[in-house]
Amino acid sequence: MQKSTGKVTSVSESLVGAKILEGAVMNGEVAYIVLEDEKRLKAEVIDVKEEGNVFLQVFEDTRWMKVGDAVEFTGLPLTVKLGPGILGLVTDGLQNPLYELGKIEWFLERGLEVDPLDTTKKWPFTPKISLGDKVTGGSVIGSVPEKLFEHKIFVPFSLRGEYTVEKVMNAGEYTVDDCIGVIVDDAGNTTELTMAFEWPVKIPMPFHQRSVPETPMPTGIRILDALFPIAYGGSACNPGPFGAGKTVLQHSLARHSQADVVIIAACGERAGEAVEVFKDFPKLTDPRTGKSLMDRTYIVGNTSSMPVAAREASVYMATTVGEYFRKQGLNVLMLADSTSRWAQALRETSGRKEEIPGPEAFPMYISTLISALYDRAGVEILEGGLTGSLSIIGTVSPAGGNFDEPVTQATLLSTGAFWGLSRALSDARKYPAIDRIDSNSKYPSLLEHEEVTYLLELLRDGQTIASNIILMGEKGITDDSYIRYQKAELLDAVFLQQNSFHEVDGVTTPKRLRLMFNMVKDIIDTPIEIKGKQEIRSHFNFIRQAFLDWNYLKPDDKEFEKQKNKLVNLVKLRSHVEENI
Ligand code: ADP
Ligand code: MG
Repeated sequence: MQKSTGKVTSVSESLVGAKILEGAVMNGEVAYIVLEDEKRLKAEVIDVKEEGNVFLQVFEDTRWMKVGDAVEFTGLPLTVKLGPGILGLVTDGLQNPLYELGKIEWFLERGLEVDPLDTTKKWPFTPKISLGDKVTGGSVIGSVPEKLFEHKIFVPFSLRGEYTVEKVMNAGEYTVDDCIGVIVDDAGNTTELTMAFEWPVKIPMPFHQRSVPETPMPTGIRILDALFPIAYGGSACNPGPFGAGKTVLQHSLARHSQADVVIIAACGERAGEAVEVFKDFPKLTDPRTGKSLMDRTYIVGNTSSMPVAAREASVYMATTVGEYFRKQGLNVLMLADSTSRWAQALRETSGRKEEIPGPEAFPMYISTLISALYDRAGVEILEGGLTGSLSIIGTVSPAGGNFDEPVTQATLLSTGAFWGLSRALSDARKYPAIDRIDSNSKYPSLLEHEEVTYLLELLRDGQTIASNIILMGEKGITDDSYIRYQKAELLDAVFLQQNSFHEVDGVTTPKRLRLMFNMVKDIIDTPIEIKGKQEIRSHFNFIRQAFLDWNYLKPDDKEFEKQKNKLVNLVKLRSHVEENI
């Protein structure tokens, strides 16, 4: 097929105008701009204008590009290569492995493209189909063991209609590009199958059958699991001002969530932040397997020095890889930090295209794009009844921490849980600084519904009393109110706050969450009879310290039960209960 060609007519940073010289061009197709020195820079057609003019967004530095440079259109959309070997990869938004190249430098040389999957590695393939079998796009044709999983090999999802298996290779060792089978359609057209195939990143992989996210995914983070949970296949919006703890929370989720596979889209906030992710994650051990965390992780990263278009691509790349592992019947968690960088990339491009701007100069269609992205999260019931899920958690970093801006609002409307980080809480070092009152979730908690209501009520009372104290001073409120206030403060200090950096406190299992909740509830329900604010305060200080000490002990520590009993005794002391015994 004759490829379409063109030439560059204008360059405005990553936005390039071109005139088509030959052939036809489609929106979304990939093109290469060929520089004088023969370097080929990857770009994507983002707008086809009348009279044969197009706009391209270039994924690389355009500094050396000139008007008149040749453009070669590929006729193909931006794709991701899917197959064995993805787990453990660190790539940029175009799936160039950063790791391989990263050994040399932490950025890519211009125009360099490397095969994302190792094409020399041989995988032990076991076929699951026989000659004459009928298959369709998405049918499982075999598998290879990959790290923690049995990696299913599919007929490419893009194939439509029914095919008959004409040839299938014996069990053996093959590379991702080796032919492992041949299928033929009714018209007699044959297709060679390999273990890897491509999928366009901007097109959601269709669900086999979609189901409602209703099983809570334990994250190890108490405030989430108890009050603002996420379900398998759910989505969450995590906005917060700079330095409030978004990235720390994402890393904690990556390590401790009960997901099979974690995909991280790191669109660096600060310079160097994404690079830290690339460097730090490979060193982490998986708390569940004791092996490398990278065995079930894929990182797609962009540093803030990379061109804007690459940031946009990275979010789609990560989502598509997530969908692929959902098709494997696994529970996948995709973390995007920060989606504001992605939105800003869209704003910059839209501005250069001189589109009519919406609120805060974001393009009018920003909310459509955001909701389309989060809509790719979900629970999927696969052929044979197996279930897979993709959960998406995106951070948003609104300027000045103002949640009324368009990206936060659009994300909020598109997701099932809202974890707003509060500057006041992070300033007070009450981590995770997730707003206890303004956050919410539509997913079921690891606790009972009434228990959640019970905790939220106490928190709300606590806040009301706290404002009364500010207005009237401690003297202005009754001892009973003061006790209620102290209980709310205790709940916050020993249960909602959690030190992400502590080996034991940093992650709470569902079992321990239950144990802790029961203890908290006992304390709250125990009527105490103490007079005087100072006395009350000191009573709760003792309990708080004993509880925190308990939080830092491992359940198999011989001090664990002892500390628990100490706590129970402290609570009983000075309570009505004790007097009644
Ligand atoms: P953001 O990504 O919102 O800009 P970070 O996640 O980088 O903010 O957090 C900034 C700092 O806040 C961290 O370096 C850390 O010192 C502190 N911090 C955030 N969350 C926690 C936590 N859960 N436990 C302890 N410290 C935290
Ligand atoms: Mg951050």
